[in-house]
Amino acid sequence: MPELPTIRLGSTGEYVRLLQMNLNGLALNYNNFAINGTYDAKTMAVVKEFQDRFEMESNGIVEAHTWSILIEQVKHVQKQLNIHGYHVGYPDGWYRASTTSAVERFQQNHGLQPLGIVDPRTRRKLFNPHPQDTIEKRPSSNDLNSLHPHVAMLAKRFLELTRTHNIDVRITTAFRSWDESDRLFAQGRTTPGPIVSNARGGDSYHNWGLAFDAALIENGQISNDIRKYFTMGHLGEQLGLKWGGTFKSIVDYPHFQYTFGLNTWDLLNGVIPPK
Ligand SMILES: [Zn+2]
Repeated sequence: MPELPTIRLGSTGEYVRLLQMNLNGLALNYNNFAINGTYDAKTMAVVKEFQDRFEMESNGIVEAHTWSILIEQVKHVQKQLNIHGYHVGYPDGWYRASTTSAVERFQQNHGLQPLGIVDPRTRRKLFNPHPQDTIEKRPSSNDLNSLHPHVAMLAKRFLELTRTHNIDVRITTAFRSWDESDRLFAQGRTTPGPIVSNARGGDSYHNWGLAFDAALIENGQISNDIRKYFTMGHLGEQLGLKWGGTFKSIVDYPHFQYTFGLNTWDLLNGVIPPK
């Protein structure tokens, strides 16, 4: 492979367009950037999210390491399409028309929306080696027992800790159904209202029982006191939870997660968190 150019804000040309096609094909175009060969702020926001997903420095500059992981991810999809008999030819790591049309055919044959991009439900169908597991059909719940056992234990300890600090906390969401996440993703995009989420069904840790949301209650109502949320967030962090108040894309004060070092693509690809 020829040496790939470093891409930064303002870069233009064919490699920017290929970058945009790869990101779009991997269902990361949640902010509707244009595939036009110009590396603008919208495309860069998606690159930062991608770098964060793979625990790279989230600086929005596309250098050798970011290129290699991105191309590897597309190759992974292409190889899997070939295995399933949806031939894309040699897996070259570029998400061009042949990959798009193979994904569309795969989606048509599996009752999925034929969008031609590897959205989470498509990824799950394409990779998941545990077809008997139907987590994508489970209903939403605010019961801690709907969570992974280790995360449920952490959530219970978190509630005890907040109580000893005289903070009144209520769990508002534990497991979230994939359909509910799809509805939240649609809001501000295809349905009315502001954008509240960049995660389709399957792309949120809530969809795997690895996250919960906690509301602060004051005088019987949900508090808007940001300082108190910081106190609550730090208590969660003491237990090893990752707090949504530290998120880079959409800051999410009520949110806590425990990921076992797995990203949602690992989970969709069939990696099971330890019990
Ligand atoms: Zn949340």
